[in-house]
Amino acid sequence: MASETCALDIIGAEYLRDVEPGELVWITEGGLESFRWSQKQQRKLCIFEMFYFARPDSLMNDESLYSYRMRLGRRLAQESLVDADIVFGVPDSGIPAAIGFSEVSGIPYVEGLIKNRYVGRTFIQPTQAMRESGIRMKLNPLKDVLSGKRVIIIDDSIVRGTTSRKLVKSLYEAGAVEVHMRISSPPVTHPCFYGIDTDNQDQLIAAKMGVEEIAKHLEVDSLGYLSWEGMLEETKQDINSFCSACFTGDYPVPVPEKLKRSKLMLEEVVV
Ligand code: SF4
Repeated sequence: MASETCALDIIGAEYLRDVEPGELVWITEGGLESFRWSQKQQRKLCIFEMFYFARPDSLMNDESLYSYRMRLGRRLAQESLVDADIVFGVPDSGIPAAIGFSEVSGIPYVEGLIKNRYVGRTFIQPTQAMRESGIRMKLNPLKDVLSGKRVIIIDDSIVRGTTSRKLVKSLYEAGAVEVHMRISSPPVTHPCFYGIDTDNQDQLIAAKMGVEEIAKHLEVDSLGYLSWEGMLEETKQDINSFCSACFTGDYPVPVPEKLKRSKLMLEEVVV
């Protein structure tokens, strides 16, 4: 059993099927046994698995996430093309979308950032100070690639904006003359109450600012997000089988007040 199919590849195991919602599977000496512990069968996979959490070499609904993310990048290029010299992705999850963007736009794909593989994901770090020091250690811009260039940087999402702002600054310091940021998902406007550390809506940049304002805050020459409609079309699966509350505020499992819901939510969300 594994949460992602790539774990099966590594040990030479065969992917059989997903455990269904409400299903409990036991492996005994007699083989596989399956029980229903709940009659509710609505699947609600976190949509962030599709473009960020899961590895690109995993399959979800029989499709590789690498191909899915490339498709999002192609769509992003159709929706918000800008003239530039090079395009690259934020390693690792932004790379397939950057390759897709390059395919459609004809703008050369390069490696603009080198990732230190010994540093974990920055947005999951619990404090701002840890997130900021994590970014500095994690991504190093390639000066000889970026110097004198108009660049497009592709990321899978912007949560607080902390990483993006630091990254943009580092690209200019490395010699980029224009920085255009493109995001292969819609704006994250709502917190997660199901275990991902984005629990205060006040920390989410797209909950407080519109796209133009975010662009100014990040100090980029332009900013574009993939549209909600674009993401729906390219996902090619029933959106009701996902939790997408980060984009919509439509929480599939009611959030009780003991989780301080009203305290963590802003009164009015700017989208
Ligand atoms: S609220 Fe967002 S991060 Fe949390 S499970 Fe839903 S889509 Fe995933």
